[in-house]
Amino acid sequence: MNECGSCGSETSTWAIEEINGAYRRGGFRFAIFDFDGTVSLIREGWQAIMIPYFAEEMSACPGAARIDRACLEAEARDFIYMNTGKQTIYQCIELARRIEKLGGKAREPLAYKAEYHRRLSAHIAERKAELRSKPETAERHAVSGSFGILEALKARDISMYLASGTDEAYVLEEAALLGMDKYFAGIYGARDDYKNFSKKIVIDRIIAENNLHGEELIGFGDGYVEIENIKSVGGFACGVATDEKRRTGIDRWKRNRLASSGADIIIPDFTGTEQLMLYLFPGRDR
Ligand SMILES: [Mg+2]
Repeated sequence: MNECGSCGSETSTWAIEEINGAYRRGGFRFAIFDFDGTVSLIREGWQAIMIPYFAEEMSACPGAARIDRACLEAEARDFIYMNTGKQTIYQCIELARRIEKLGGKAREPLAYKAEYHRRLSAHIAERKAELRSKPETAERHAVSGSFGILEALKARDISMYLASGTDEAYVLEEAALLGMDKYFAGIYGARDDYKNFSKKIVIDRIIAENNLHGEELIGFGDGYVEIENIKSVGGFACGVATDEKRRTGIDRWKRNRLASSGADIIIPDFTGTEQLMLYLFPGRDR
C-alpha cells in the first residue's frame, strides 16, 4: 500500500493512495459518480442534523430513561454511518428498530425521514439560495476540483452517470443548481418505492444497457456502498475521502472506511485532476 505520508499536513500535497495497483486501467468508457460528499457539498453537515435528531427520538423511549444523551448519540452515529450511502430511509428503518428495542412505539420510518428532511432543509436553505442568486459560487459548494474532473472525463467522451441515495427530486435540483447536470447522461436518486432503487440496480442497468465489461467502468464515491457495488461488477473504484468541512484534504475516517470497502485508490479531492487522469489512462495521449 502506497500510503500518502503527509502526516498532519494532509492538504499540502495532493497524492493518489494506491491500494490495488494491479488493476488494468485505461479502458474506461463509463463513469458513475456518487453525489453528496463526492462532488456536492450542498448537504455538508447532514450528520450534525441526523445524529442529534435520532438521539432525541430515542431519548423519549422508556428504555432510555437512564441512558445519557451522549451514549444515545454515539449509538445513533454508529448505525447512521453503517447505512451511509444507501437511501436515507434505511437509516430511518434502523431508528424505528432501535426505538422499539428501547420500549418505545416507533412511527413509520417515512415519518422520521420527513422530519429529518425538514430540519436539514432549514440547514441548507441558505446554500441553495446563494446558488440560485449567484451561480458563480458553485465551486464553493462542491468538492475541490470537481468541475475539473467532470470536464476532463467529458473531453475523453466518457459517459457519466450520477447515482445518489438522496431523493431523486433533490438530486436533480441540486445537480442543476451546481451546474453539474449537463455532464451526466443519467441522474438517479432514491424514490419512494425504495426497494426498487439502489446503486447496485443503477450500476447493473448501466452495464446491461451498454453491454459493458467491468474494466470499462469507473466509480467515484465517498461511501462504502458504491465502492462495494462497483467492485462487485469488476469496475475500478476511486474512493474520494474529502474532509467536507474544508472541501479538500483527507478525512481519516472516510479514508479508512473506503480502504476497507475495497477501493482501488483513494484521493483527497479532485484538485490533482491532471495527475489522476494520467493515472487512470496510462500511456495514452490525453
Ligand atoms: Mg456520498
